[in-house]
Amino acid sequence: MDMDKLVSLCKRRGFLFQSSDIYGGLQGFWDYGPLGVELKRNIKEAWWRDMVTSHDELEPPVGAPSAYDMTGLDCTIIMHPQVWKCSGHYDLFHDFMVDCRESKKRYRHDQLRGRWAEYDGRRVFIACEGGGEEGLAQTHARALKLFNLRAKQAERIAWTGELISLTEIDALAQVLGPDAKAVGTLTDPREFNLMFKTIVGALGGEEDAAFLRPETAQGIFVNFKNVVDSTRVKIPFGIAQIGKSFRNEITPRNFTFRSREFEQMEIEFFCHPESSADWYRYWRDRRLRWYRELGLAEERLILREHEEHELSHYSNGTADIEYAFPFLPAGEFGELEGIAHRGDFDLRSHMEGKLDEKSRPLQVQLGEDGKPLHRGSGKDLTYRDEVSNDRYIPHVIEPSAGADRAALAFLCEAFSEDEAPDEKGKMQTRTVLKLHPRLAPIKAAMFPLVKKDGMPEKARALYRTLKQRWNVFYDEKGAVGRRYRRQDEAGTPFCITIDGQTLDDDTVTIRDRDSLKQWRCSLSDCEAELAERLR
Ligand code: ATP
Repeated sequence: MDMDKLVSLCKRRGFLFQSSDIYGGLQGFWDYGPLGVELKRNIKEAWWRDMVTSHDELEPPVGAPSAYDMTGLDCTIIMHPQVWKCSGHYDLFHDFMVDCRESKKRYRHDQLRGRWAEYDGRRVFIACEGGGEEGLAQTHARALKLFNLRAKQAERIAWTGELISLTEIDALAQVLGPDAKAVGTLTDPREFNLMFKTIVGALGGEEDAAFLRPETAQGIFVNFKNVVDSTRVKIPFGIAQIGKSFRNEITPRNFTFRSREFEQMEIEFFCHPESSADWYRYWRDRRLRWYRELGLAEERLILREHEEHELSHYSNGTADIEYAFPFLPAGEFGELEGIAHRGDFDLRSHMEGKLDEKSRPLQVQLGEDGKPLHRGSGKDLTYRDEVSNDRYIPHVIEPSAGADRAALAFLCEAFSEDEAPDEKGKMQTRTVLKLHPRLAPIKAAMFPLVKKDGMPEKARALYRTLKQRWNVFYDEKGAVGRRYRRQDEAGTPFCITIDGQTLDDDTVTIRDRDSLKQWRCSLSDCEAELAERLR
């Protein structure tokens, strides 16, 4: 799939615009246009419905160790600064960056790759931002330029090994930066905290500094006791939240994939330590199934279990659901969602104080004065089982998804080009978004074939009826073929045409976006027919 075509469709048809476009845009920030906002709302709505409101707490769902409760929350973006100190984000939530003194560009240290090239006694590490075939092609082209060689002299360059990460290289003086002409222009890697800082209140001293949340999860942990005390939920149960998160990403890129402001859909699932491994497996499989059910192709989705060395110190298991985004080199996948077994790390940290990363078993990290480095709330966040009277700190399984990454994956999956006949029967290239009907921004469009003979009246009446229930669209302008094309590009699954025959027998033509099949249906059955097909 050609990513440029999707990006241009998104702009042309009002799915996505760069934020502050008329001022030249702001890197890493995106606005959802009239169609985009509907798509994203439908994704969030599908997630909330499937995970929370339609969850049946009376029966164990397929694959679940037992029945469980689900409930929701909507917490603030700015929270008490101590939250981020205890969660570890204040001390640990950073990336390493390198700057290029020549091009003035900034890169994430772990995202640069490259290869050693040798020519005429000079050994240089040629760095690039891409991977796979693309990365290899970039390094080759740049090495030729650096050594002042022509394409046919390429074999004079001796290459060592495959593309490797810049993090494996100590000799930065021998590195040719991705946008530099000279060698050795990259600075040493420097730490960079990804949290956006802000000031609360009018006086605005450093002690009033607060942060925009980099994840929604912490709002759930700090409300764990409130939820247990104010509802009848019993362990095992999950708390879900959808909301904005902010990360001052060093290199926002790949359309909306890595943005600085984005939306997360997170569940913190609280369970007994003994059954936590089973719950981890349940959530990992359940969440993967969700993406498949909404149309992501099996061959482009993978579940990647983290290797031992990738796991956080406290995690007993983490898996990423990854998608083969078309902007990635062939064979590479990008994270859509992470499912982590977090043990009791979060509740304990908010109770006792920030835990020491390296201690085992985990202990509160102490400062030089022997007191906790970051003090916890001191509140009792243990849970008492009413039946067994057992008291314990629940373990947590966290399925953490991004609404924007999901929207991007669904758009990439849906984008396709095929051929369809125009009004004169001539085959034309057709651009179509084959979105799942639940996600499609517009569910059906109503067209009077011509703007006369009472057709608009009938079409409008149908439009008004269906509008009570779904986001539908009325269009009477231009040739009907053109109207179909516009709806295909918007991902509208059904078009309903009111024509001459409608005036005789009150039947309409329904056209299916994907199969292009058309069939007649009586006006009075239209709503039921759509309801059946939009599930
Ligand atoms: P990455 O490794 O890609 O930076 P992450 O592992 O830091 O992601 P998490 O902290 O696990 O991501 O966040 C959970 C989810 O939130 C991700 O799977 C992704 O869908 C979404 N997300 C995280 N960072 C961003 C971002 N900068 N832009 C858009 N979505 C994001």
